[in-house]
Amino acid sequence: MSRFFSKKYDGLTPYVPGEQPKKGQKFVKLNTNESPFPPSPKAVAAGIKAVNGLNLYSDPLCLKLRQTAAGVFGVGAGNVICGNGSDEVLNFAFAAFCDGLTPAVFPDVTYGFYPVFAAQNRVPFVEIPLKDDFSVDVERMAAEKGTLFIANPNAPTGVALSIETIEFLLESDPSRMVVVDEAYVDFGAESAVGLIGKYENLLVTQTFSKSRSMAGARLGLGFAQESVIADIETLRNSLNPYNVNSVTLAMGAAALEDEEYTRANCLVIGKNRERTAEFLRSRGFVVTDSKANFVFASHPEIGGAEFNMKLREKGVLVRHFGRPERIADYNRITVGSAEQMELFEKAVDAILLETLK
Ligand code: PMP
Repeated sequence: MSRFFSKKYDGLTPYVPGEQPKKGQKFVKLNTNESPFPPSPKAVAAGIKAVNGLNLYSDPLCLKLRQTAAGVFGVGAGNVICGNGSDEVLNFAFAAFCDGLTPAVFPDVTYGFYPVFAAQNRVPFVEIPLKDDFSVDVERMAAEKGTLFIANPNAPTGVALSIETIEFLLESDPSRMVVVDEAYVDFGAESAVGLIGKYENLLVTQTFSKSRSMAGARLGLGFAQESVIADIETLRNSLNPYNVNSVTLAMGAAALEDEEYTRANCLVIGKNRERTAEFLRSRGFVVTDSKANFVFASHPEIGGAEFNMKLREKGVLVRHFGRPERIADYNRITVGSAEQMELFEKAVDAILLETLK
């Protein structure tokens, strides 16, 4: 740290993204929940075309993308905001809907960026422990004062809440915002976007990084009533009105229009997920009931960090979170293509053979 760094950032611990292999390193990469499939060919064609217009700024209104999203999701364009990844929309939500009197409230085991967003915006946060079965303690979340942040399905567990439970939380205190982070919703959970007309206190975020195979393009959406979107627009236009570049905007609209491609890929990932979970259970692992594009698993006889390291030695990257303590024996394994999962399974069997002699 230099002596010029403002004291207001004392103690700020940044989010640590999963490892991105360097050039020349060859790994089966199952550590950051990316899609194993390329973006839709229609999105790629739209992106290539948009490259020629990069001399001009991107559309600060993101109009075409918002209109396309409105059509696909059955809402109005005024109900949609575009972010540089859904991380940006989530960060705006922490800034817009939390303060000293309104803490952010989220489970103790959830997306690791939430505490960082809170700290970066200097707003307090409360962590509600997941129940022993890794389900969200809905009653305690409902009883807590503050803005709720709920990843549905949750990360890194993959466990999903029903839409009735989301409604219960929305109704628990209509004077507070509930932010539902649907980064993984397309792999098997029910979306709350259809509820935005009914609940003024709902913001739903989605991403193009997972089911739409565009993690590198950085694109996310927020859905809410117009007044809520207008608040976030105030922040977006006070920071960077050109937050989404024009290649990404063009690709995003085309990807949304190619729903068939996305749906087909999600089906494959869902099948591979169930196969992988079955495989791991057959080898003695405890595996959560994931509705996302990853599984969360632990083995009673191999520590989480050790398993992670051994997989890495065998050329497979998965994600290990040391904290909190009770997930230290788990690893989050992104579900990739059938070929990737076969290599993963081979590596697991080799590790079990070496370790459990
Ligand atoms: N929410 C959750 C639960 C995530 O796991 C991620 C991906 N790391 C995001 C949001 C952010 O995704 P992106 O910024 O790529 O849209």
